[in-house]
Amino acid sequence: MNRENKRKSFDKGYYKTHPCNETFICNVCGRTVVPNGAGSEHRNHCPYCLHSKHLDIEPGDRQADCGGAMEPIAVWVRKNGEWALVHRCRVCGALSSNRVAADDNPMKLMSIAMRPVSAPPFPLERIEEMTRMMGGDGVLKW
Ligand SMILES: [Zn+2]
Ligand SMILES: [Zn+2]
Repeated sequence: MNRENKRKSFDKGYYKTHPCNETFICNVCGRTVVPNGAGSEHRNHCPYCLHSKHLDIEPGDRQADCGGAMEPIAVWVRKNGEWALVHRCRVCGALSSNRVAADDNPMKLMSIAMRPVSAPPFPLERIEEMTRMMGGDGVLKW
């Protein structure tokens, strides 16, 4: 099925109200991704390498013409404790936030979450000194 046919068969907003049940081959790691196991309605990224594809402008609308690979660059935690991934498009630089799925590779998620911790923007040996300067209450007292 080519892109044009797909456009015609699904109206704008289709994916907002319908679960996404497509099996696709990840164009980053080449694995086949099946919809089962995501634990959510939309599987919008590969559970193995966590890359996504730039298809949406608003989540689920499939209105972006870019189609670039979206790299997982960060993990953040929502108010309810749920993890979400921040993706950045390699082609146009667009950012998007996506819920993690139940079967996302946990090691990969952890390594993304730990990235800023393992590469802090200041020398690690200064952490003790900086903690002392903050007086233990998180406020800097220079
Ligand atoms: Zn992949
Ligand atoms: Zn893009």
